[in-house]
Amino acid sequence: MSDAALVVSVEEALRPLSFARNVAWWDSQLDASDENERRRADTEHAYSDALADRELFAEVEKARSAESDPMAGRQLDLLHDLMVPRQISNALRARIVDLESAVEVRFSRHRGVVDGVEVDDNEIKRILRQSDDPTARRNAWEASKTVGASVADDVRELARCRNAAARELGYRDWFALSLATDELDEAKLISTLADADRATAEPFARWKSALDEKLANRFGCSPSELRPWHYADPFFQETPAEGSVDLDPLFAGKDIVSLSRRTFEGIGLEVTGILARSDLYPRAGKCQHAFCIDIDQSGDVRVLTNIVDNHDWTDTMLHELGHAVYDLGFDENLPWLFRSTHLVATEASALLFGALAGSREWLERVLGIGEREGAELEGRLRAARAAELVVFTRWVLVMNAFERALYADPDGDLDAIWWELVARYQLLTPPGGRRAPDWAAKIHVAVAPVYYHTYLYGAIVALQLKDALGAAVGGIVDRPEAGTLLQRKLFAPGQSIRWDRLVEHSSGSPLSVEPLAREVSAV
Ligand SMILES: [Zn+2]
Repeated sequence: MSDAALVVSVEEALRPLSFARNVAWWDSQLDASDENERRRADTEHAYSDALADRELFAEVEKARSAESDPMAGRQLDLLHDLMVPRQISNALRARIVDLESAVEVRFSRHRGVVDGVEVDDNEIKRILRQSDDPTARRNAWEASKTVGASVADDVRELARCRNAAARELGYRDWFALSLATDELDEAKLISTLADADRATAEPFARWKSALDEKLANRFGCSPSELRPWHYADPFFQETPAEGSVDLDPLFAGKDIVSLSRRTFEGIGLEVTGILARSDLYPRAGKCQHAFCIDIDQSGDVRVLTNIVDNHDWTDTMLHELGHAVYDLGFDENLPWLFRSTHLVATEASALLFGALAGSREWLERVLGIGEREGAELEGRLRAARAAELVVFTRWVLVMNAFERALYADPDGDLDAIWWELVARYQLLTPPGGRRAPDWAAKIHVAVAPVYYHTYLYGAIVALQLKDALGAAVGGIVDRPEAGTLLQRKLFAPGQSIRWDRLVEHSSGSPLSVEPLAREVSAV
């Protein structure tokens, strides 16, 4: 069989399985019923079985080692990366899939309890954003961690199984395997994160000490008495109101979906079809997070959100639609295996659009605030954006270092390691005497392992793209030329180009923390 014929036959085998898996996953996120969960597990097994096929993998490997035309060669490389993690014993593979499903269902169904009442994530966040009562805050924060205790043993077991899989395949651990199959170089990642640490350490420390003064005032204590529940979200991954601009009043009563549609219309990117297929508002039993899914890699793109009329959910909605327009933007002649995105590139698009909801130009032109209000807000918005970036970068440093430690030793003292990292990078004071698997309350550790650094890479690339669009067409909001450029340079190639070259191709320069260092200096 020629390389091209091999690629076509693989596509024919995988495509229907991928479609069934995506539909079942979508249904299970809308309603975590036993029936939906069973169908999800079945389709996941079927897809995973196809990628685990040893004979097929041998053929792919043989074809890769031979001379081949670059198009087929690139598709075979992508196929190799998809298949490698599944070239392990069937029992181990099934065990990993089952554990992942079980943990995910528990996250979806779990509700923390505050004062005897079940509360969802939105309610916990509301208390942490608004309450001035330290006891209520502490109760809400502790409620947000209870899911960790319920999944921690399974997450450790998942890490052991993932490591066993990686070692069967000749990799040091799951961390190393994940980077290799994501086309990420480990040495480059570590040096980039070290650069990001250096670029943000001082601005973050300066910003946080000013924040702590304000929080201490608000809660009537000294800065040294502040604990993690005094900050505005369960993980201190977002900027508290004291360190940012409270834009929520501007969004109260607004139609977030219309604003989102209007945003993309202004840059000539169509989202009406996406919105029609999506599930946008909160409901009992539904997944509480947000995501975008490309169901069939040929136009059926959907987002799941739980919209509330505030700034956060507007940012999230634009973020998810930033993924969605990318998935709709692949060149129509691309073969199926190229009709997908690298994680870094799609996060860059998502973050680029999400950030619009906090920019003066968008607030004036799309939300409709007055020019005087816009001018008054501008400096504070820039400082808030810088704060958001430093807070986020410090959080990614925690997550990355934690996951490196998790896979280096899943049986280690993870509860202690977690709080050491939180203290080192986020400068938070751990609650005295707390012994709990708080790390396991972060859903990504279980179901999106070794992924968080791609958000930081994505954030950096988003800044590079913003610079490039600014230089080329003057900005993004209401500039159809910006949409055209993104469409042509970033979206259209799909995965036909390796992600790091795509970054250079679309932004004009290779990945570098330079724009991050520049932005955070405004803090
Ligand atoms: Zn995203």
